[in-house]
Amino acid sequence: MKESSDKRHIAILGSTGSIGTQALEVLEANPDSFVLEVLTAHSSADLLIEQALKFKPNCVVIGDESQYKKVQDVLFDEGIKVYAGADSLAQVVQMEEIDIVLTALVGYAGLRPTMAAIEAGKHIALANKETLVVAGDIVTELAKQKGVNIYPVDSEHSAIFQCLVGEFHNPIEKIYLTASGGPFRGQTREQLASVTKAQALKHPNWDMGAKITIDSASMMNKGLEVIEAKWLFGLKPEQIDVIVHPQSIVHSIVQFEDGSMKAQMGLPDMKLPIQFALAFPERLKSDFPRFNFLNYPQLTFEQPDPKTFRNLALAFEAMKLGGNQPCILNAANEVVVDAFLKDKVTFLQMSDIIEQCMQKVAFIQKPNYDDYVATDAETRSVASQLIKND
Ligand code: NDP
Ligand code: MG
Repeated sequence: MKESSDKRHIAILGSTGSIGTQALEVLEANPDSFVLEVLTAHSSADLLIEQALKFKPNCVVIGDESQYKKVQDVLFDEGIKVYAGADSLAQVVQMEEIDIVLTALVGYAGLRPTMAAIEAGKHIALANKETLVVAGDIVTELAKQKGVNIYPVDSEHSAIFQCLVGEFHNPIEKIYLTASGGPFRGQTREQLASVTKAQALKHPNWDMGAKITIDSASMMNKGLEVIEAKWLFGLKPEQIDVIVHPQSIVHSIVQFEDGSMKAQMGLPDMKLPIQFALAFPERLKSDFPRFNFLNYPQLTFEQPDPKTFRNLALAFEAMKLGGNQPCILNAANEVVVDAFLKDKVTFLQMSDIIEQCMQKVAFIQKPNYDDYVATDAETRSVASQLIKND
């Protein structure tokens, strides 16, 4: 049994979500390696209470302030501190006890607490890709200044990271991010015109939160991941390629300057990249199901189709333009995905609105933090207006 000081002390932002709950399974299976300090949720008060009673963290944060009393009433007697609201989220990540913050909350809301955690010198296990999409330049710069490591949790980026271990001084020629292609792989635009929310929410290989599942169906998830990879690995746009791999066994590939390619593979299970990020550089034993070659006699690869799945092309365009364009892309996407989930826009209208936002919102070449906040707000208002007028 390790001493508490030898264990990693973890904060999980978004513990009630898909990544958050799987992270708790990893912690539960490895009590010798981790101590849980913080759990947070947006509005799932009951699940947050249940998790806190089981894992006994130092404190919890409930985003929705109207639920504070409910959570406080149960956890007070347990000696667990309870806070509420977005400001508290940015404060608790700075607690002295914390070594590493797992950002498993969804969307732009991740930016502020992630910056606050880095500011306080906490390492980051990054699931919340939107943070790097919105403000990758200032986030990675701050991490460098503070000597903070950003460990990827996204399976593709974890794969690249795993391929780079022992190779950190060898330049990357290019990377291939694999994409499952989602539930609508191979469909035409005519077919996509009438797809429903229920169809889009059925991912063939991964069980994830609603927002990322829609992003996977529209290929925006891969677009966001391309931008995430640029910042995580310091790559130029032309060094990043996407290849569709429907079986989701090869999680991504690095090609080095001698032409050698390394891939990381395994069954699709987010617990592995979560555990790798939290325990790095150690590989902890696990009982995750093992891959059997004979169950997969064929692993196949094909070109993505950015003419049909226009979000992928829009994301590449935003990355190449740089500045606040990826922030515009992300904010517009968050608004249209929410609208699609409420049946207010069709599947194909999502790309149309994102494209219009990229044209309408003022371009800023070298944004600072406040510019990103303003760009996000302006884009949300433009996108909402476009949805109303449709
Ligand atoms: P979920 O929707 O399942 O969970 C989101 C979590 O964030 C919940 O705990 C939710 O609380 C909380 N949350 C939502 N909105 C806010 C907010 N405004 N402020 C604070 N907390 C909030 O998402 P996923 O777990 O699927 O995804 C989380 C992140 O990880 C995303 O950025 C996604 O892109 C990334 N990711 C996810 C993968 C997956 O397999 N799921 C794979 C790779 C990356 P509540 O329950 O109360 O709403
Ligand atoms: Mg991914």
